[in-house]
Amino acid sequence: MIVAIDGPAGAGKSTVARRLAERLGFRYLDTGAMYRALTWLAMNRGIALDRADDLARLAMEYPVTFDDQGRVWIAGTDVTASIRQARIDRQVPVVARHPPVREVMRERQRQLGAEGDVVIEGRDIGTVVAPNAEVKVYLNADVSVRARRRQEERPDIGGDALATDLRLRDESDAARMRPAAGAEQIDTTALQVDDVVDQIERLVRERQPA
Ligand code: C5P
Repeated sequence: MIVAIDGPAGAGKSTVARRLAERLGFRYLDTGAMYRALTWLAMNRGIALDRADDLARLAMEYPVTFDDQGRVWIAGTDVTASIRQARIDRQVPVVARHPPVREVMRERQRQLGAEGDVVIEGRDIGTVVAPNAEVKVYLNADVSVRARRRQEERPDIGGDALATDLRLRDESDAARMRPAAGAEQIDTTALQVDDVVDQIERLVRERQPA
């Protein structure tokens, strides 16, 4: 079974998806981490971020992998921590908007999601990567709450800069940020993580074959 969890930055996707996967014993796939790792590699190698074909080639040559501890690797480097820097937050939508890059990434995401039960989080999972997912969820939250959550993960950045980053990223990601047909929409503004996980777990149990 595939559980697709989409939504904007700070809506709670990663925390919810990870905890849900743990509870259900499903694998967890973070597609944002894949775009982040590619962005890290491109910046590291000095590849201009407007060169769609160069970036797609790079993605093809250096597939992102996840080890058993959930650490993120690209080109032989553990980038788990580096991909959470503000400089990556700012540039990743620039890389992710190129159609040839998305084609390579989506194909790889389908391969990684192909076997067994998996929770996949991203922006376009329910709409494009796995439109046949048995459970589709779209998480959202008020922008001030999303900024506050991000602030807790990025204590080194001022609140104003962070709110601006989030707004710019929302704008860049807007083309891909829509709930899939049939997606359960959950507003997480006033909810605890476990309440959201409970809701999704119920959907999964309903749709799991007896
Ligand atoms: O989910 P996360 O915030 O880590 O995603 C980082 C960025 O990667 C997003 O802002 C978006 O630009 C891109 N992304 C995407 N499609 C996905 C997942 C992430 O375009 N499925």
